[in-house]
Amino acid sequence: MRIVVLAGGIGGARFLRGLLQAAPEADVTVIGNTGDDIHLFGLKVCPDLDTVMYTLGGGINEEQGWGRTDETFQVKSELAAYGVGPEWFGLGDRDFATHIVRTQMIAAGYPLSAVTEALCARWNPGVRLLPMTDDRVETHVAVEIDGEKKVIHFQEYWVKLRASVPAEAVVPVGADQAKPAPGVLEAIASADVILFPPSNPVVSVGTILAVPGIREAIADAGVPVVGLSPIIGDAPVRGMADKVLAAVGVEATAAAVASHYGSGLLDGWLVDTVDAGTVGEIEAAGIRCRAVPLLMTDTDTTAEMARQALALAEEVRA
Ligand code: GDP
Ligand code: CA
Repeated sequence: MRIVVLAGGIGGARFLRGLLQAAPEADVTVIGNTGDDIHLFGLKVCPDLDTVMYTLGGGINEEQGWGRTDETFQVKSELAAYGVGPEWFGLGDRDFATHIVRTQMIAAGYPLSAVTEALCARWNPGVRLLPMTDDRVETHVAVEIDGEKKVIHFQEYWVKLRASVPAEAVVPVGADQAKPAPGVLEAIASADVILFPPSNPVVSVGTILAVPGIREAIADAGVPVVGLSPIIGDAPVRGMADKVLAAVGVEATAAAVASHYGSGLLDGWLVDTVDAGTVGEIEAAGIRCRAVPLLMTDTDTTAEMARQALALAEEVRA
């Protein structure tokens, strides 16, 4: 079975770990979000690709959900001693090595997709990890701070400001000019199932879908497309997805996210059992829906979520 998954960072990575347990024989291709990428200290940092790579490769800081395990911060404190920031972005010493290798390879002319493959040769994530594009795309957020309107990098909004001010708009800068990375459209066209994990619908899955050709390829693939809600009981499970949903005029409910993707794209949608009351409304909108436990408390529980998603895909196919 060939499965394609569109993934952000933590939500996507944790789901993938469950999926690999549930379907160990499957051939899984992950299309990763690169809209969160940021250049810091002259280095190209790809937080979502790295979260997937470290999580599936056994190098993730489990409690945090991002960054390396057993991390130290010597380089960061040396930079701070020179007065060089930003101090709000946590790059540890082990993590720095990944960004140095990536930046060096890009400077030597390799596209991000080839660099990601090279990095994955160390981590053996058990999936084929493709960036959504080799082109530069950066998610920016329009905000108003102390009466002044500004557009800031997504990481500044999310990590520095902790989404403490409303997002007025979310713009994947460069996406309209970007081309899907080599292998992306081919993987979609030859997939048996396409899954949207409980990743952020705006700044993770939404950004991937903003690369011209990807949404169309998914809609035209002619195979079941099934998603899992990142919103449980009208709130994001972690993070601040409600803030970016508001920016695109979508309520933070499992049903509103389903209709935001729409029945043209999505065939099936899993909501948590606490949202069982919305199943009828989602099905009335033309999306087959089931209510099952959706908290990724451990890998066994997450594997069961993946089995439910694959079962729903089979129902759609039938
Ligand atoms: P990020 O790039 O690290 O923000 O990660 P993703 O975009 O892949 O996932 C973020 C989303 O995952 C958030 O909107 C959370 O609500 C959702 N999420 C995190 N943990 C869980 C969980 O256990 N269950 C569900 N259903 N969603 C989760
Ligand atoms: Ca992310």
